[in-house]
Amino acid sequence: MASKKYSKRQKINPAPQFPLLVVLVDTGSKVFAVLYRDESGEHEVEAPLLITATGPWIDEVNVQYRLPHNYRINKVSGIHIVINRALVPDCMFLQTNNRRIFFMIPWYEGTTIIGTTERMENCSCDEVKLQEEDINYLLNCANHYLKEPISRDDICGTFLGIRPLVIDKNDETDATSMSRDYKIDVIRKGETKLIHVYGGKLTTCLSMAEKVAALV
Ligand SMILES: Cc1cc2nc3c(=O)[nH]c(=O)nc-3n(C[C@H](O)[C@H](O)[C@H](O)COP(=O)(O)OP(=O)(O)OC[C@H]3O[C@@H](n4cnc5c(N)ncnc54)[C@H](O)[C@@H]3O)c2cc1C
Repeated sequence: MASKKYSKRQKINPAPQFPLLVVLVDTGSKVFAVLYRDESGEHEVEAPLLITATGPWIDEVNVQYRLPHNYRINKVSGIHIVINRALVPDCMFLQTNNRRIFFMIPWYEGTTIIGTTERMENCSCDEVKLQEEDINYLLNCANHYLKEPISRDDICGTFLGIRPLVIDKNDETDATSMSRDYKIDVIRKGETKLIHVYGGKLTTCLSMAEKVAALV
């Protein structure tokens, strides 16, 4: 996480390829520092620029490295199922009975993907699991439109992602009104910065990257 720019400016080698143990904020000095361990032991190195861009893991990373922050995220999982044959000639975005959107998209080697779902997750990212209920939901959505119904036997793959939906640290907002936008959270110490990137979408990642670059 320590920046290349800083290591050049200070002419030090912070060896960032070694796992960090903790980020030191209250060091009494005017810069952040990081503590890392290599074969020769534990080392402390100044790190005037730190950037975290760890998607849905960001809250866990903040706790693990004791990083100060002003936002947190709600984790909302979304799954896709892969069907073993072609179901649609082109990408189809369709509406469910309760007016949500789902899609069927031609995928690799003649397969089809169907997605997606929204489920609030309260566990850590690595503990999030695929739910039967979500698979059945997507099968039912598709079968509402398909002449020949599909079943679990037709599923040849599944994948799951977690959306990091950003909220204010003290906000109790519910999932439906949470923003899909991103926030750049800058914590300053003297002339140094810790920059957290929260939330966002593929469609906004370039503007987000430009804003972060401007802060560096
Ligand atoms: C179901 C779903 C549907 C989506 N649909 C759309 C859409 O239609 N349109 C759209 O624009 N966007 C969509 N998105 C959002 C898009 O996928 C994300 O915005 C994008 O993937 C986020 O990229 P990222 O690099 O910020 O986070 P990620 O891709 O999640 O990367 C975070 C990285 O941090 C790493 N990491 C975690 N912990 C640590 C650690 N301790 N140290 C070092 N590294 C760590 C992880 O390994 C990972 O590589 C969707 C997301 C999901 C989940």
